[in-house]
Amino acid sequence: MDTVIQTTGWPRATTLYRYSIIICGAAALVSAPRWLSIPHFDLRFLFLVAVTILVSSRFAVQIPRVNTNVTVSDTFIFLVLLLYGGFAGIVLAAAEGLFSGLRISKTPVMIAFNSAMMACSTFLTVVVLRVFFGSVADLRTFELSSFIAAVGTMAMVQYFANTGFSAIGLALKTRESVWLTWQKHYLWTSITYLAGAAVAAATVNSFAKAGFTIFIVGAPVIAIIYFTYHKYLDEIKSTSAQAEQAERQRAEAERARAEAERERAEQAERHVEELNRHIAEQERISSQLKESKEHFRHAAFHDTLTNLPNRALLAENLKFVIERAKQHEDYQFAVLFLDLDRFKNVNDSLGHSIGDQLLIAMARRLESCTREADMVARLGGDEFAVLLDGIPDQNEAARMGQRIQEKLQSPFNLSGHEVFTTTSIGIALSSTGYDHPENMLRDADTAMYRAKAKGKACYEIFDKGMHTHAVYLLQMENDLRRAIEREELRVHYQPIVSLDSGQLAGFEALVRWQHPERGFINPSDFIPLAEDTGLIVPLGLWVLRRACEQLGQWQWQSAANRSLFMSVNLSGKQVARPKLVSEIRQVLEETRIDPKYLKLEITESAVMENAETAVQLLRRLKALGVQLSIDDFGTGYSSLGYLHRFPVNTLKVDRSFVGRIGEAAENIEIVRTIISLAENMGMEVVAEGVETLSQLAQLRKLNCQYGQGYLFSRPVDAESVSTWISRKPHWQEALFPSKSDYFVPGQPAVVQLRSA
Ligand code: C2E
Ligand code: MG
Ligand code: MG
Repeated sequence: MDTVIQTTGWPRATTLYRYSIIICGAAALVSAPRWLSIPHFDLRFLFLVAVTILVSSRFAVQIPRVNTNVTVSDTFIFLVLLLYGGFAGIVLAAAEGLFSGLRISKTPVMIAFNSAMMACSTFLTVVVLRVFFGSVADLRTFELSSFIAAVGTMAMVQYFANTGFSAIGLALKTRESVWLTWQKHYLWTSITYLAGAAVAAATVNSFAKAGFTIFIVGAPVIAIIYFTYHKYLDEIKSTSAQAEQAERQRAEAERARAEAERERAEQAERHVEELNRHIAEQERISSQLKESKEHFRHAAFHDTLTNLPNRALLAENLKFVIERAKQHEDYQFAVLFLDLDRFKNVNDSLGHSIGDQLLIAMARRLESCTREADMVARLGGDEFAVLLDGIPDQNEAARMGQRIQEKLQSPFNLSGHEVFTTTSIGIALSSTGYDHPENMLRDADTAMYRAKAKGKACYEIFDKGMHTHAVYLLQMENDLRRAIEREELRVHYQPIVSLDSGQLAGFEALVRWQHPERGFINPSDFIPLAEDTGLIVPLGLWVLRRACEQLGQWQWQSAANRSLFMSVNLSGKQVARPKLVSEIRQVLEETRIDPKYLKLEITESAVMENAETAVQLLRRLKALGVQLSIDDFGTGYSSLGYLHRFPVNTLKVDRSFVGRIGEAAENIEIVRTIISLAENMGMEVVAEGVETLSQLAQLRKLNCQYGQGYLFSRPVDAESVSTWISRKPHWQEALFPSKSDYFVPGQPAVVQLRSA
């Protein structure tokens, strides 16, 4: 039985080991004949050699898992050792190694190594046996106990040497320790050596007694033992293969399980990741939604320019405090309604961008006046509101109104422009008792209008009387809307007289309203309402048409009337309309009067409110061929720079100056200044409100061209004018008797025309 190592060309250590063994083997073969007696090789020996080679090459059993073959050849080597001595054994071992090497490898080194290894181990066995038992060939002559000891030693040495060499080779190849390798692969093979040695020993004894015949009988026994052993090894092989298979399957299953586990873990991880991503996405979307909801909420309740709460949010808060006031008797609050005075001027003169900046700055300034609990809101345009929440007493609202006015005394610096502004404030108090936010805002708004009417830059606290007045205005507005179609409006005419000759020069058309229930209503009581509601546009156009028709009629009546002119008032609201020019042109065409006999009066303040656009409009009106007058001159703080650019023909001195002419020296100086100003600019002057002869005398002295006033006539209806227009006007004889004595101090007007 021998062991063969199949190496697969391993590095240097293996190669070195192999060559060493080859050298040792060769040395063993060469040295053997020197100290061992060469036996007589008979036919029987040759037969054993042949069987050994044949059997070992035919019946090699591979040990599972390692490339090692166990053969039955050791039994024959033991037999030859016992029968023919050490030398024969070594030679047979070398030969057997050579043949089994040829069977398992083609490389000469491997074949030589295999042969040398067998030679070396047998050589070692022989040496040990000789040392302990003497000549190997003589062992069979020993008594039984010594023989058994010798055979046992032989088997053991052969076993250790053989498996030792193999284990070293294998260990070098696998890089495992020699001990572990030997233990794992070769420990168990000792039994085969012992069995082989026992068989050999038994055979040798039988050989001695029965000669060659025992071999004939023994051979089948050996064959049976061998085949049994072969079978046993096959069993091991198959069990081992099964175990290996099972192990592989187990490992495979383990691997698959681990793989599945890993897959599962990965999947779980992916799932968790996916879930996390999903959650993150959801969160992102929900926060985005929240954000945009917030955004929309904010946008719905805030003003984009100033970022202040808007009317809707103010109303919400008002609802809340109204409810609270109902539950807590001593809880009080107030609403301040603010409207910037002359904000339009800022927009028109400095541009909308500065206007916007003013609104923003105003918002911040208002915020700086109020407490944390209060709310500043922008209601639209130049309107703001302040809700004072939980005030100690109602005077607090007035104090706040005062504080805001004071805060506005310092100018705003807007892109390098110093802008001053004031505000009119209306205050509504919770003590009035409100159920709806809208009512409270409405009342604050009403109070604000009262403040505006009082001259702006002040505050007014709402009272019930204002409400009554507001209701009255609303009723009036409705009535005024129907006044034109119901023909309740009339036009009265007031003469304008040449102060030089006393001749009638023309008329001013002044509207009157004959209300079916309220009776006669003054223009000063409904013109502002008409302006606020926009009704002034159709009303003004109606007056214009009516006056032009009337002038045409009078001019047509008599050649003496041909040069009479008609003055018609235009409101600031009309002047702001681009369509005005074409509307006037149309009236002139329809009534077929010469445009030069139409004078359009525009108040100084209406012109100055929007000076730049007024210049443009006046030029277009002038282009129609009509004449232009500035009404109420002296009250509107005219800029001389602008006055110079206005294409006007006439200045009408406000009656407030004319009325005070006799009172103080400076009053007459104002009129004198206006007259000389007009003179310098090539304009004519009409003095309004001439009531006394002394005023008339003074005006004539100042070379004022025209006069208008009760001294000559009150405004009267067209019929009244028609009756005396055909005759010489009454004032001519009385007021202008002769050029020499026109100054008659203290004398009253002698002529009284029928008053309207
Ligand atoms: P105005 O254009 O300055 O008209 C002169 C006003 O002075 C008239 O008042 C006239 O009756 C009054 N008046 C004339 N002489 C005297 C006098 O000697 N003493 C006194 N105390 N008053 C005198 P009226 O008719 O009440 O008109 C008031 C204002 O209403 C007008 O002032 C004018 O601004 C406006 N108005 C009148 N009719 C119209 C109109 O058709 N359209 C427009 N837009 N405004 C009109
Ligand atoms: Mg007028
Ligand atoms: Mg006037």
